[in-house]
Amino acid sequence: MTIHQPPKNEISLDAFWMPFTANRQFKQKPRMLASAKGMYYRTDDGREVLDGCAGLWCVNAGHGRQEIADAVGRQVSSLDFAPTFQMGHPLAFDLAERLAKIAPKGMDRIFFTNSGSESVDTALKIAFAYHRGRGEGQRTKLIGREKGYHGVGFGGISVGGLVNNRRMFPTLQADHLPHTLDIARNAFSKGLPSHGIELADKLEDILNLHGPETVAAVIVEPVAGSAGVLPPPEGYLQKLRATCDKYGILLIFDEVITGFGRLGQPFASQYFGVTPDLMTTAKGITNGNLPMGAVFARREVHDAFMTGPEAAIELFHGYTYSAHPVACAAALATLDIYETEGLLTRVQQIAPAFEVAAHGLRDLPNVIDIRNLGLMAAVELAPRDGAPGARGYEAMVKAFESGLLVRLTGDTLAISPPLIVSETEIDKIFSMLRTVLATLD
Ligand code: PLP
Repeated sequence: MTIHQPPKNEISLDAFWMPFTANRQFKQKPRMLASAKGMYYRTDDGREVLDGCAGLWCVNAGHGRQEIADAVGRQVSSLDFAPTFQMGHPLAFDLAERLAKIAPKGMDRIFFTNSGSESVDTALKIAFAYHRGRGEGQRTKLIGREKGYHGVGFGGISVGGLVNNRRMFPTLQADHLPHTLDIARNAFSKGLPSHGIELADKLEDILNLHGPETVAAVIVEPVAGSAGVLPPPEGYLQKLRATCDKYGILLIFDEVITGFGRLGQPFASQYFGVTPDLMTTAKGITNGNLPMGAVFARREVHDAFMTGPEAAIELFHGYTYSAHPVACAAALATLDIYETEGLLTRVQQIAPAFEVAAHGLRDLPNVIDIRNLGLMAAVELAPRDGAPGARGYEAMVKAFESGLLVRLTGDTLAISPPLIVSETEIDKIFSMLRTVLATLD
């Protein structure tokens, strides 16, 4: 078997324009991951690195799963590609059925994409087209939330609420709910913060400003991930649901991170007992092994499109690689693993130990908040005067050098290991983090 691995000293770093990276800084001192198995990466210089963030919130079943590798290999040999525009292949239908079985009740119509960003833009387009098809074409506005991350497509950045992702680019018509991070009232909350349900009332204010009949959809992450793990205040998501119902606005949950078991249920929607109209997913759908995403639609939303002449295409949208057979094979093998190992609910058992370990860092200097839900946690550090992000960056680099991968946003470190993590590994993650944070000025 040929493994394409160029000799270390011969790699030029110039050509790869890296995403979401300080390219010049990175290339002066690269951090290279060369292989991975189970809970660990191995660097190009042979060091083990404990994966504290499931790659990028995606490798839920752990690394190097042979079952997925085998399924992918078999699929490339038997049907490497098949179009799904006016054609089909069995795995696409099989996968959609399998996903429908674990979906929130009634959300059993599934559109395939290749990433979270594409899932978000797809869901927003479905929302616009849904209203238009029902004679409400005036619903052209979207509501997202401050600090929200919905990928990098034009739809996603329009509803997203991270300023650096927005400021350089034109956007669609969108307004934003206030974010729910309230360190003054909720610092060191375990699980859902108890203050902040009133922030959901702001939706009424925003709708009254725009005219509710002009709004197509509200989109939120049930637990904001990329902004640094922000669990919603108690009762908040239920209120958003009620307000959307009141005005006929579609509610979209972006479950690209929370989907596939991270909160101890297949989807956050089931964890919270709140069913949206559309749900976006990606990442864990293939255990991060191949690019794939999926939008789950409530049956009624889907069926609203199935009313015109039968020979008419109902939705002028799709990707060459929608339901790519090899990605489908990877996803089916991933779902088999999730099922046989009980991974979509395993977090219920390990979340208590994870919470205790995370909050064990509370006494460290510079730690101003710790937040957690399911198998997601964030440790927020006080920013250095005049240098926001510098302390967090140093922590992330030192953690990596000491053998731990964590995710960084500003001065917030996020921890979200693969769902196979043991209690011993949980303790190891937080004790390594303790050592790093104790040495930071
Ligand atoms: N939505 C959410 C909630 C995400 O966390 C992400 C990525 O982290 C995305 C969308 C975008 O996904 P992708 O990077 O696969 O386009």
